[in-house]
Amino acid sequence: MPLIGTHVSAAGGLFKAVERADALKCESMQLFTSNQLQWKSKELSSEEIKDFKNALEKSKVLKVVSHASYLINLAGTDDLRKKSEDTLVKEIFRCSSLGISDVVLHPGFAREFSSEVAIKRISDSLSKILKITEKTKVSVLLETMSGQGTVIGHDFSQLSYIHNKLNNNPRIGFCVDTCHIFAAGYDIRTIELYNDVTLQLIGQLGLHNIKCWHLNDSLGELGSTKDRHASLGNGRIGIVPFELFMQDERFKFIPAILETPKDNDGDIKNLSLLRKLRANKL
Ligand SMILES: [Zn+2]
Ligand SMILES: [Zn+2]
Repeated sequence: MPLIGTHVSAAGGLFKAVERADALKCESMQLFTSNQLQWKSKELSSEEIKDFKNALEKSKVLKVVSHASYLINLAGTDDLRKKSEDTLVKEIFRCSSLGISDVVLHPGFAREFSSEVAIKRISDSLSKILKITEKTKVSVLLETMSGQGTVIGHDFSQLSYIHNKLNNNPRIGFCVDTCHIFAAGYDIRTIELYNDVTLQLIGQLGLHNIKCWHLNDSLGELGSTKDRHASLGNGRIGIVPFELFMQDERFKFIPAILETPKDNDGDIKNLSLLRKLRANKL
């Protein structure tokens, strides 16, 4: 069964993120290891690394994933692309020192390039980054995107194309976001549709490469391309696919991370709903 968790704030120190996740009885968690909206990141001190590892050791959290900065665009023009590569390399090394095995990444935006050129630029950058960080065991998980603007990754075939270009490097994996795939036009609202879309996912990306899910309902309609998350059951997707997913043997032990609104005890309510769905007790 999937490992239930949520995105937690690292305000006050990375170890605080673990404590927050543990207080919510999470089995998995996601965090930003540095400010996701700033290029600058400071080196982690050995104290910070030790505190994080100790907190994790003491907690019931089994799996941690990091989300890379939103600023990164590996398809960007030269200066932006260089900054993006440097930032992702630093992120991978930070994860390695913290013992985090996976970094979730938005593949990038094509902007002035065609999507074919953008995909090639992303693949080339990733190839370089994997080489620089080859001594680490950290994987980069390309996230499925909603299709807003010129974003890359709204079609599973684009993600599989990047993977192929990197010779199916085992350090490339995927993170499936339910809100994003729905907004990108993949309907999962009935058992038949869920089965069909998950078969496409597995067929194009490979079951063992899908290493994380983001469980979010969607404020936008099917195919709207809007990246607007809602609490489970409060959006256009509804509860059905989340119940199917929580019972889905193919995705057991995979982190299932909420990125749903946190106001009004949002995390507590959404986590408890997922536990009920997993226990088949709704
Ligand atoms: Zn994301
Ligand atoms: Zn999103």
